[in-house]
Amino acid sequence: MTFIILIKPRNCLIEPKTEKMKSSLYLGQVAKIKVFIHWTFLLLIGYIVYSGVSAGQTLEEICWHILFILTIFFCIVLHEFGHALMGRRFGFKTKDIILLPIGGVARFEKLPEKPQQEFLVAIAGPMVNFAIALILYVTTSSDLADIMNQRPVNLVNAESFLTLLWMVNLTLGVFNLIPAFPMDGGRIFRAFLSIFQPREKATKIAAAVGFLVAIAFIFMGLFYNPFLIIMGAFIILAASSESNMVSTQALLEGHTAGEIVMRSFATLDQNLTIAEASEAILDGQASNFTITTDADRIIGTLKREQVIQALANSESHKKPVTSIMDPVNQTITADTPLKDLYTNELIRTNTMIPVTYQGMVIGVINFENIMEFLAIKQATPLWKNLLQKNRST
Ligand SMILES: [Zn+2]
Repeated sequence: MTFIILIKPRNCLIEPKTEKMKSSLYLGQVAKIKVFIHWTFLLLIGYIVYSGVSAGQTLEEICWHILFILTIFFCIVLHEFGHALMGRRFGFKTKDIILLPIGGVARFEKLPEKPQQEFLVAIAGPMVNFAIALILYVTTSSDLADIMNQRPVNLVNAESFLTLLWMVNLTLGVFNLIPAFPMDGGRIFRAFLSIFQPREKATKIAAAVGFLVAIAFIFMGLFYNPFLIIMGAFIILAASSESNMVSTQALLEGHTAGEIVMRSFATLDQNLTIAEASEAILDGQASNFTITTDADRIIGTLKREQVIQALANSESHKKPVTSIMDPVNQTITADTPLKDLYTNELIRTNTMIPVTYQGMVIGVINFENIMEFLAIKQATPLWKNLLQKNRST
């Protein structure tokens, strides 16, 4: 099974630990896309060895099985590259590809919303498996019927290797077309639905169908293959996470950075020392500051924690705050859609970003602002009316 997923931006509480990839081994980089393998992959190899030994297989047979699994995963990497490279054609970047025991995941920074693009990005993966299957089918000479008749069935060896591999690729292609959102088939299904429905509703329907399929997987897994249980659980988690994300995007739709800009915020003069900055922290409630020049230009941002950390070193007390601030290199314009900002790396990595209107800084914005906006909007069903009233007055 393979997946395309969206990297979830952090919310105020949870740091994106998954993005550090500590639990995964870096395999290499192809076409500027990093490929990782998750440590739990070792469990899969362990499972093959264990089941081989308990079935009385020889060392040679077990090695053939391991080689076979590794080759399948190589095909899965190619499948993910199918998604990634098709995505790139439309300008959507893939951050990385991770191999898990249940399959591969291509993590996109942003996913296509146009039904046609979403369809092409989703179908590109299974098409890679169909292409591999076709090439192997044409080039291998051994007969599938002979291999299916051998005992035990699916025994991997030099003769059966390529024939079984084309079968697996065919199966992978077909399996991924099952409409269990966010599996490829589910994305194709959503792309189809979003021709007639708003994207949010299309996602809800696709996720609901995906949920039913996932339950069926879990149920079948109890009797046949325990991997199906893990897959089912993964589908449910990934589907609900993406469904929430789409709902969030729908809430942000039509709103801009200018609507949530913080016009009053704490500033520190660039000439202050770190010791003086600590007094400012004690004076007020602010935990984030902008560093400004004498001409009120914002040149950096500073968190309370950075000041406290610097105070631990007695030598740095007299140093200027500019020595520990995060310099501000970019600004955003007031008309930037909140929807784009929510998934933007810039707002995730910066304490605060100045917002400009017609070239003038009108305030600052940070990720917490967006989260607050969402909380308020969710709690206010009549939001639109309220906002319009406030604006007209
Ligand atoms: Zn796929």
